[in-house]
Amino acid sequence: MKHSLPDKHIQLLYLEPYSFSVITGNNVLIYNSLNGIILEYKNSPSITRIVRKAEDPATGFLAEINTHSTSAEVSSFLLDMKESFSGDVISSDIKQKPLVIRPKPIIKNHPPAKDFPSFAADDYLRNIYFFLNQDNNELCHNYKDAAAQFFCPVYNSQGYLEMPAGTVFNSCSFLTGVSGIRLDFSGSDLTRYSQTDDLLKQLRKLSLAVTFHIPLPCYNENMVWKLLTVGNSRLAFYITFPHGPSALTDLMKNAEFKKKLKRIDTNVVIQSLDEYQLMAELLPVNTQQKVFFLPYFNGKNAEFFTENVFLSKNEILNLKPTQMQIYSRMLINEHLFGKLFIKTNGEACTNINQSSIGNINQDTISNLVRNELYNGTIWHLTRMKVKPCRECLYQIFCPPLGNYELFMGRFNFCDVR
Ligand code: SF4
Repeated sequence: MKHSLPDKHIQLLYLEPYSFSVITGNNVLIYNSLNGIILEYKNSPSITRIVRKAEDPATGFLAEINTHSTSAEVSSFLLDMKESFSGDVISSDIKQKPLVIRPKPIIKNHPPAKDFPSFAADDYLRNIYFFLNQDNNELCHNYKDAAAQFFCPVYNSQGYLEMPAGTVFNSCSFLTGVSGIRLDFSGSDLTRYSQTDDLLKQLRKLSLAVTFHIPLPCYNENMVWKLLTVGNSRLAFYITFPHGPSALTDLMKNAEFKKKLKRIDTNVVIQSLDEYQLMAELLPVNTQQKVFFLPYFNGKNAEFFTENVFLSKNEILNLKPTQMQIYSRMLINEHLFGKLFIKTNGEACTNINQSSIGNINQDTISNLVRNELYNGTIWHLTRMKVKPCRECLYQIFCPPLGNYELFMGRFNFCDVR
């Protein structure tokens, strides 16, 4: 008599190490970060269950497939996985399952242990932004919230206020010569700052990369070239309406401007499509001049933002992030990480839209960095932590949250949700 031996083989689905899955409810998205193929399945409890298992360390990242009762929907999903090179089904001995490794991102020394012996703030810091002066003059008044959106100009309802130049040197001297850290200076108008000579002397000693952010029109045009006498320094101009465009036209004729073009960024602050068109016509094409358009939200131009700043679903899916970008965005906010802001009165924060984490007149930069790493929320503010993005299938595609979203208090600059 013949006995058929029980089949000890099972079918197992695994995801390739470069494939990512997002599950929300009964919806699944699979993204292959190598070839950019996106697979999307809506309202499918069976596919959701399979992908959950394939992402579960407890199953060894293997989802068992019952080939005898596979539905047409699941069969089609398995074929999609195979044909897109996002995963595959393999036959395996039930007792000797293969080893599947799903890579996970980690950051060295992060978060640092509280007693981390060699804690160095410069391992985490990228930019320190100082607001050297603040004013409530006409220009600042027209752009009251600019600093919260893109750092310049800076408004202060109290009137004119300055930070002592010594504050910069005293707080940053421990960073002297460190590469990879940039100091940024902004204000109502830096060309009015009365301690510029002192500041420049100290900046030369610090030997750090520096950017000066200046609104146009500015108070003293000759002063801006003096700022570039610090070694590794750059200028960022902010063209504000109504007088900025003509101030820029004058400036572009200046011999120093032409000579220093490579060290200058021009940011055009726009509140409407009309302002954009006006500036697009005014700006020369095919020059080395680096120009960026910065939309300014004034509380009344939501429509301009919706039409020109928000992303459509197609634009989002076409962003095609790399594997490294996805890993990084799972842990940190690439836009906001490593940034400290010091207000004119010394108050420190990791984003100007958030409350303070200390004061530079009492706290060291190292302690402020520790405060953010242990107790803060900004440097690690990923889309996976905020609504509605954390419930959205496209969360791995979207760029990290930025100042505009924090300022406006909405995290979905898109037509998806
Ligand atoms: S809801 Fe959030 S994650 Fe989803 S597409 Fe919009 S911005 Fe991106």
